[in-house]
Amino acid sequence: MLRKSVKLLTLLATIVACLATVTASVRPSKLETVKMRGYITVVTRNSPTTYFEDRGGKTGYEYELAQSFADYLGVELRLNVADSIGEIYQQLETGEADIAAAGLTQTDERQRWFRYATPYQTVSEVVVYKRGTRKPRELSELPGKMMIVTANSSHSWTLRQTQATELPSLSWSESADLDVTDLLHMVETGEIDFTLVDSNEFRLLQAYFPNVGTGITLSHEESQAWALPMSADQSLLEQTNQFFSERRTRQQLANLNERYYGHLGELDYVGAKRFLRQTSRKLDDYKPYFQSAAEKHSFDWRLLAAMGYQESHWNPTATSFTGVRGLMMLTLGTASDLGVSDRLDAEQSIRGGSEYLAGLRRRLGSQVAEPDRTWMSLAAYNVGYGHLQDARRLTYEMGGNPNLWRDVKDSLPLLSQRRYHKNTRHGYARGHEAVDYVQNIRRYYDVLVWNEEQATAVAEQSTEAEVQLSQSMTVIPPLL
Ligand code: GLU
Repeated sequence: MLRKSVKLLTLLATIVACLATVTASVRPSKLETVKMRGYITVVTRNSPTTYFEDRGGKTGYEYELAQSFADYLGVELRLNVADSIGEIYQQLETGEADIAAAGLTQTDERQRWFRYATPYQTVSEVVVYKRGTRKPRELSELPGKMMIVTANSSHSWTLRQTQATELPSLSWSESADLDVTDLLHMVETGEIDFTLVDSNEFRLLQAYFPNVGTGITLSHEESQAWALPMSADQSLLEQTNQFFSERRTRQQLANLNERYYGHLGELDYVGAKRFLRQTSRKLDDYKPYFQSAAEKHSFDWRLLAAMGYQESHWNPTATSFTGVRGLMMLTLGTASDLGVSDRLDAEQSIRGGSEYLAGLRRRLGSQVAEPDRTWMSLAAYNVGYGHLQDARRLTYEMGGNPNLWRDVKDSLPLLSQRRYHKNTRHGYARGHEAVDYVQNIRRYYDVLVWNEEQATAVAEQSTEAEVQLSQSMTVIPPLL
C-alpha cells in the first residue's frame, strides 16, 4: 500500500515537473512579448533634458533615444509622461511601463529595486545659489538655509547620505511637484536659498536663469541610465544593453550630445543678462521685419532675431572696423548684390541678411540635413562660404563627416594654423570665431524660444496649483 502511494506520488511529481517545463518553455520572454504585441512602453518626464514638445512636435534627448530603441526592436514607441520621479518608478513596479528613460541617476538605493542598462551619460550634482548672495563652497554652509529638492530624486538620496555620514545638522524640504526649472526659478527669485540639480540640467538651463550660479559639488561622476523592473527575465535588459553597444547608437549619442549640449557654455552670465534685458527693450521694434523675412525664406523668425543680436545687438547703425555695417552687418558688396540701398535701414538690413543666409543654405544643398545645414549656413555667413567648404574638405580628409556640423566645427578652428590651411583653396581663416558665432546664435535662439514658452506657461498657471504645492512639501529635519 505504502509502496503504491509512493509510486503514485512519484508519478504525480514527474507529471507536475514535466508540465512546468512545458509551460516554462512556451511562456514567451519579456523581449518576445514586447515584439509580439508590437510596442514598447517607455516612461519619461517632461523636461528640457528628457522630453518636451516644440514647434516640430515631440522631441528631447531621451525621447529621440527611446524612439531609436523602438525602431531597433521593430516596434512602436508608446510614451508615458509621469508627473513625478516617484511615479516613474511606480510605473516600472506595476508593469505599466517596460523601461524608464528620464535622465535617471543610478543610485545605490535604486539599484536594490531596479535594474539599470548600460549608462549613457555622466553628471555631477551641484548646489545652486542666487548670484550676489554668498556662494556656498563648503558643506558646512548648507545647514540653516532654505533648500528644496525634488522628492524621490537622486538629489534627495544624496542629501540623505550627506546628512547620515557627514552633516547631521543638514535639513531641507522636498516636493514631488517641483522640477528643476521650478526650483531654479525659486532660487533666482530668492524664494529659497539653494537647490540641488544635475550638472547637465544646469548647463542647459543656465542661459534662462542668468542670476543663478553653482556652488559646491555634492557628488561627482554619477552615471545616468535607463531603468527596468527587477525581474528574473533579463531578455529586455540584455537587448537594451545590446542596443547601447551598437556603433549606430554610440554615433547617435554623440549627435544628441552635440545637439542638446554642444553649443552650451559660450554665453556667460553678463552676456545672458544683457541679452534678456535687450529682448524686452528692443526686440519688439524689429520683430515684424524678422517675421516677414523668416516667412519668405522658411526660417524660424527667432533664429534670424538671434542672428541679428549676435551681429549687432540689434543696433541698426552698428559699424565694424572691417567696413561691415547695419543690424545684420552686411558688406558693401553683398548689400549691393542684394539690392540693399541703405545698410543702416533695419528693415532692409534684415531682409538682405536673411536672403543672403537663405542663399548660403541653398548652396550647401540637401545632402546636409537640418539642423546642421542651418548651422553651416550661419558659419558661412560669418567666415565666408569658401572657408566653410575648406573646413568641410578638411573634415573629410581627417576621417570626419563633412555633412555633420559636429565634425565640421572641429575642423574650422584648424584653418588658422598654417599646416592645415596651406593646402586649402582659400587659406587662413579665423575659424574658431565662426564656431563661437554659431554656438552663440544657437544659445540666443534657445532663449528666445524658451521666453515664448514661458510667457504661455505663466498665462496658464493657476493659483490652485500653488495651494496644492504647499501641501505636498515634506520637511526633512536635521538628525541632531
Ligand atoms: N537625475 C535625477 C534623478 O535621477 C533627475 C533629475 C533631477 O531631478 O534633477 O532623480
